[in-house]
Amino acid sequence: MKVGRNSPCPCGSQLKAKRCCLAEPDRRITTPRATLARLQSDVAPDLAGIDRNALRSLYDEMIYLPELDMSLHLRLPGLRTPEIDRAAHAITDGDGDRFDTALHDARSAVDSIERRLELAQAVIALREVGLVNRPLAAIAIIDLNQPDSALVTSALAQAIAVAAGDEPTPTGLLVAS
Ligand SMILES: [Zn+2]
Repeated sequence: MKVGRNSPCPCGSQLKAKRCCLAEPDRRITTPRATLARLQSDVAPDLAGIDRNALRSLYDEMIYLPELDMSLHLRLPGLRTPEIDRAAHAITDGDGDRFDTALHDARSAVDSIERRLELAQAVIALREVGLVNRPLAAIAIIDLNQPDSALVTSALAQAIAVAAGDEPTPTGLLVAS
């Protein structure tokens, strides 16, 4: 299918195609949102031919990715918000329900397209060194383009667990609840 130069780019960046995927790579608009959308269209072919069940297990595996490497922890603000404090205390107390609520509240304050792009680039870096396989990286990057990204939640949970000086895995708490 031919894409019009002035049409919205099919990668989902919400830019005109001529400013995005139709432009020479060094002339593309590089807002975080556009870069994240282009990453998604780059990795989508890695999921071709994968059936629903396999996709489901990749998705489940993705939630645990932040346990693999610090680069997949959501970067927390320099000053801890009260919500992050509450989540950290809930981990220390082993209170899964309270952790879930606090995590949900903390998320809106720290989730941004810039942080999501950082996570996506960290996923690509781990893929390049062979720690994350291509389909798993693809599902992670597609998830990071969704409004309600599960990877953002688990990346935040893991960062808070480290901040709390904690051993029990917060993704374990998440999945249990
Ligand atoms: Zn594009």
